[in-house]
Amino acid sequence: MAHSQCCICGNSITERFWVCEACERAYDLKRPFPEWPEWARYLQRDEATRRRRRDHEVQVIPVSLLDRAERAQVDRLLYGEAEDD
Ligand SMILES: [Zn+2]
Repeated sequence: MAHSQCCICGNSITERFWVCEACERAYDLKRPFPEWPEWARYLQRDEATRRRRRDHEVQVIPVSLLDRAERAQVDRLLYGEAEDD
C-alpha cells in the first residue's frame, strides 16, 4: 500500500486519511471535511495534489478547481483503484 502523510504534521498515515490521530484531536478535525477550518482544508488540498501527482504523474488537476461532486469522483477514482489488489 502507498504511504501517505498527515497534511498538517507530515506523519506517516494510512492512505484514506488526511490527518493523523494526534492532529485530528488537536485541531478538532474529527468531522466532515466541509466543516474543517479554511487553513486545514487548504493543507488538505495541498496534500491531495501531492498524492495525485505521486499516483498519476502526468495528470494534475488542482483540487481547488473542482466542486464537491467532482472531488468525490476523484476520490472514488483514486481509492477505487486501491481495491484491485
Ligand atoms: Zn498530524
